[in-house]
Amino acid sequence: MEGFEARLGAALEERRVAGLYRRRLTLESSQGVVVRIAGRDCLNFCSNDYLGLAAHPRIVARFQQAAAHYGVGSGASHLVCGHSAPHHELEEALAEFTGRPRALLYSSGYMANTGVLTSVLRKGDQVFEDRLNHASLLDGGLFSGARFRRFPHNDTIALEKKLSAAEGAKLVVVDGVFSMDGDSAPLADLADVCHRHEAWLMVDDAHGFGVLGDRGAGSTAAAALGVQGVPVLMATLGKALGTAGAFIAGSELLIEMLIQHSRNYIYTTAIPPAVAAATLEALALVREEAWRRSHLAALIQRFRLGAEQLGLPIMASDSAIQPLLIGSSQRAFEISERLLSQGFLVAAIRPPTVPANTARLRITLSASHTETQVDQLLEALANSASGS
Ligand SMILES: *Cc1c(COP(=O)(O)O)cnc(C)c1O
Repeated sequence: MEGFEARLGAALEERRVAGLYRRRLTLESSQGVVVRIAGRDCLNFCSNDYLGLAAHPRIVARFQQAAAHYGVGSGASHLVCGHSAPHHELEEALAEFTGRPRALLYSSGYMANTGVLTSVLRKGDQVFEDRLNHASLLDGGLFSGARFRRFPHNDTIALEKKLSAAEGAKLVVVDGVFSMDGDSAPLADLADVCHRHEAWLMVDDAHGFGVLGDRGAGSTAAAALGVQGVPVLMATLGKALGTAGAFIAGSELLIEMLIQHSRNYIYTTAIPPAVAAATLEALALVREEAWRRSHLAALIQRFRLGAEQLGLPIMASDSAIQPLLIGSSQRAFEISERLLSQGFLVAAIRPPTVPANTARLRITLSASHTETQVDQLLEALANSASGS
């Protein structure tokens, strides 16, 4: 009986031979700037907890209070009896914060993206995606049955050419901030192009929400684009907001259609009510503590200046994601291991997460880092990333 065993074994062997085998670190502490791994404290430079909220005492306390009141499990999907007061209040707060008529919670960003794309699109439509879009957007586009077309990264001219030649309903999909490069989509230009070609624009703001815009409302707020310019807005709650889950924000029509038809929304258990309550507290901190965004911005400047002076291969990013382009997967992995042995946690990101020959160290900064910690990282990088 040849079959699955042989196939699975071959898949693993292929990863191993290519030097792309992945392993998981096991944390023995809360998420934060200092994390404990194998009994040892490391300085963390690879979390998406950009504002340092994942273990914030106020958010933990709100979570505990809500768990005492609502219990842990939500018990059912939203349409049966799993939709609780904190879920509802959070949806209203997210709609208000993003300046949209409605918002709808999903259990994860992956589910929100594949859910909205497979619900809005159907056969005969065309979906246009930036080639560096997050895997969940690419998967959603592929699963939808629409004609799937990629365009070169941030190339609105190439996109416009494809749109002018296209028939049928058209949806353009981009990351607001690209997860592995850290650069931003030209949202104002994209909204213009979409307007001219009667296409809808969808933005995945997983890495902009909470961080960008004066109030932290994200990339679309920074570009002053409302629901007309960006009819489909998605953001996650597990990154800057420090909790878990995701949401889609848009018109009454879009959200009601998702509630009625989105299989990823309907056929899954609602996130724990306490997570929704904790997220309301996170949202309050995002609004109240603008210093988190300004401190993060200062750290980003400090890191880029220092890295430039050291001749490190920084990329064109203004965001908290500051990758160093290494190229070789093996070398990126070795540098990451060397850094870990010195107590610095920096992820090596390798294909297929990024294109071939563009392995990188994906450094992320957080409002919880100090200037001294950023300087320590720069010093370690100067020692580890130079020479081979
Ligand atoms: C993390 C991420 C997602 C997935 O969100 P989860 O809540 O982790 O499933 C989607 N899009 C982008 C751009 C992301 O970075």
